[in-house]
Amino acid sequence: MNNQLTAKEREHLAKVKSLPCSVCDAPGPSEAHHVKQHQQYTCVALCQDCHTGSHNGWHGRRAMWRIKKYDEIDALAITVKRLMLLK
Ligand SMILES: [Zn+2]
Ligand SMILES: [Zn+2]
Repeated sequence: MNNQLTAKEREHLAKVKSLPCSVCDAPGPSEAHHVKQHQQYTCVALCQDCHTGSHNGWHGRRAMWRIKKYDEIDALAITVKRLMLLK
């Protein structure tokens, strides 16, 4: 398995991590959630709570996701939209 990121992938991830959380809008820096493992271009910007928090996190009980009626693709759409508005 090739875990080496290209320079472009690293640059993309840095931009994603600079965004606010795509679920609760907490200001960045955020964490990058991989919708699919090893696919750097479908990463979602999430705060620690919405990412791995046991109550609100995608990897936990997803309370905030349920409140917002969100799934990963909804959050990805927000991340991509905000990336387009960067620079
Ligand atoms: Zn959040
Ligand atoms: Zn994740």
